[in-house]
This record gives sequence, C-alpha cells and structure tokens, in this order.
Amino acid sequence: MSNNKLPIQVRPVRAFADNYIWLIESPLAPGQVVAVDPGDAEPVISELRRSGSSLAAILLTHHHPDHIGGVAGLLALAEVPVIGPNDGRIPYLTRTVGDREQLDLPKLGLSFETLHVPGHTLSHIAFWGHSALFCGDTLFSAGCGRMFEGTPLQMSHSLQRLGSLPPETLMYCGHEYTASNLRFALAVEPNNPAAVEYRATVAALRASDTPSLPSTLGLESRVNPFLRCDTAPIRAAVQAHAGKPLSGTAAVFAELRAWKDGFRS
Ligand SMILES: [Zn+2]
Repeated sequence: MSNNKLPIQVRPVRAFADNYIWLIESPLAPGQVVAVDPGDAEPVISELRRSGSSLAAILLTHHHPDHIGGVAGLLALAEVPVIGPNDGRIPYLTRTVGDREQLDLPKLGLSFETLHVPGHTLSHIAFWGHSALFCGDTLFSAGCGRMFEGTPLQMSHSLQRLGSLPPETLMYCGHEYTASNLRFALAVEPNNPAAVEYRATVAALRASDTPSLPSTLGLESRVNPFLRCDTAPIRAAVQAHAGKPLSGTAAVFAELRAWKDGFRS
C-alpha cells in the first residue's frame, strides 16, 4: 500500500435520522470528494454545492437502502466510479471488491485495502487506509451492527479483524448510535472507567449536536463490549446474564448480541 499514510480529510453529511455519509478528500486532489455509503443524494448534493466540491467516486459497504439509496441521484449529477461488494442487490457498481483487495484511486491520491466483514450482511465490506476505517454497519462506536444475515461466528470474526487494525485508526461508521450503545456497554460493564469517561465525552458532544465520530480503534478496544468478548469482565458479565458457562469468544459474542437485541435502556 504505497500512499495509504497520506493524511485525508473526512467530513460527515447527515442523512435520515442518524446516518452519516462520509466525504473523503485527499490533499492531492482538493475539491474532489469520495462519498461513502450515500443513502440519500440530496444532502450530499447540498454539501457539494456549499463547499464547491465535485464528486469523484462512491464507495459502498453494503446493500441496505440507507447506504445506497442516493447512488442513482448522484450518478445523475456526475458519472463516477461506484465501488462495493459483489452483491446483486447493489446496482450501479462499476467495480466490485472482496477481501484483502487493494483499491487505488490514483487521481485522487487515495488507496484502501478492502476487508470482507460478513455478519450484518453477508457481503459487507470495509475500507481501510490512510489510518481510517469505513466500516458501515459492522462496527459502531461502543457497539456493533445487528446480525441480519450472518452467524455469530462470522460476525465475531469480522469484529476481531477490525479490532486488530492499528489502535490509532480513526473509525468512521454508518450511524450515530454511540450514546445508546454506551448505555448498554455500561449495563454490561458498569465499572469500566474508559466507558464511564467516554459517556461524559459523548454526552457533551451530542448536547451541542456534534457527531461523536470518528472514534479510534484503540478507544473501542477499551469501551466496546463487542470487541472485548475475550476479556474476563465481559465474559463474566455475559455468563452471569446467560446463566451458564460459555466457552470461546464467538459464544460470548452470540449471547452478548442477543442481550443487546432485547435491551431497553
Ligand atoms: Zn445496514
């Protein structure tokens, strides 16, 4: 990966109730942005007009409408590459990517490695490069996506892969769920000082309507119970909740995910 250390600028465009469409801009191509998961075209077009930028490419992590619904509207504006997983449910793709592929956008000075991270959906991918991770609905700050299509083993493995990327990696996920995820994280692990501190940080950000993202993978390794299924405190809490012993990270993950699915804060 030749230039993946090049610093990039990333800014959010809000869509729907709590989606973020991320716009990536490289210093080598100012004014040219790559949109990640444009579920809605209108707010992206507004931001392009406001900033005088042009759309150069679209990256898609998975097929859900709130992540791809704006592609057609954006292509009406500009014919740009559309890159995403090989999945018939995703129209307009000009290139498909799978696991551990190198995605170079040389004119934009951008280069990503793709990771296949099944669980939320079976074909879900993440884009990693420039010390940033665009992980769609697989990993959230202090939480993770629901398993709509994958198994706990698949999702657990996907999260472990993302969690093993460098701790300084900035994590850009698809939704602003951090505050509610932290309510569950602290129900599981009430005495986790990093999570307690993060709750205050996120509350202050959200009080001023500021995104809680990006997070870092280092922070997530301390506060996100779904990345901590191999730790003693999470295992103990999940076993106590399940009322039975659990062996293996995936088994702990499965019970933790089920616990969250039924959790009302
Ligand atoms: Zn989704």
